[in-house]
Amino acid sequence: MTETAISNETKPAEGGCHCGANRFEISGEPEYVACCHCMDCRKSTGAPMAVFVTCLDTQVRFTKGERSVYSSSPGVARTYCGDCGTPLSYEAEWKGDTVIGFYISTLDKPEDFPPEKHVFDADRISWFHVADDLPRYLTVPGTSGPDYIGPSVGRK
Ligand SMILES: [Zn+2]
Ligand SMILES: [Zn+2]
Repeated sequence: MTETAISNETKPAEGGCHCGANRFEISGEPEYVACCHCMDCRKSTGAPMAVFVTCLDTQVRFTKGERSVYSSSPGVARTYCGDCGTPLSYEAEWKGDTVIGFYISTLDKPEDFPPEKHVFDADRISWFHVADDLPRYLTVPGTSGPDYIGPSVGRK
């Protein structure tokens, strides 16, 4: 994909925690935007599902504050604001790069980042349904296509 003059001039997307002590910017398009239903994400956010805007670390600039870090599993850093407790990001190696997945609601304009897929649908809380028609993966996308498409209503 070639960079156009327009995308180079696009302002970075901004985000931060609830109290404003931590702020960041994302330049360019994210690698992917995904809804994750796994228990680690649910426990780490306190929400029934986490939505990630995942970028290469080279696209991210932390403009204010120092995020606190919790290692939720080997090689995975979950960061949060030490002042207000807002969960900020999931950070790990992915395909040889370091990626930073910001939780969607840390973005000032989450509407700009609609999700593309659901992952770890097998771990979804059985009463929790999202009525979109996105691809669903029982774990993570692999070599085959999605496990099913569309609303989860009627499934586990
Ligand atoms: Zn904060
Ligand atoms: Zn997860």
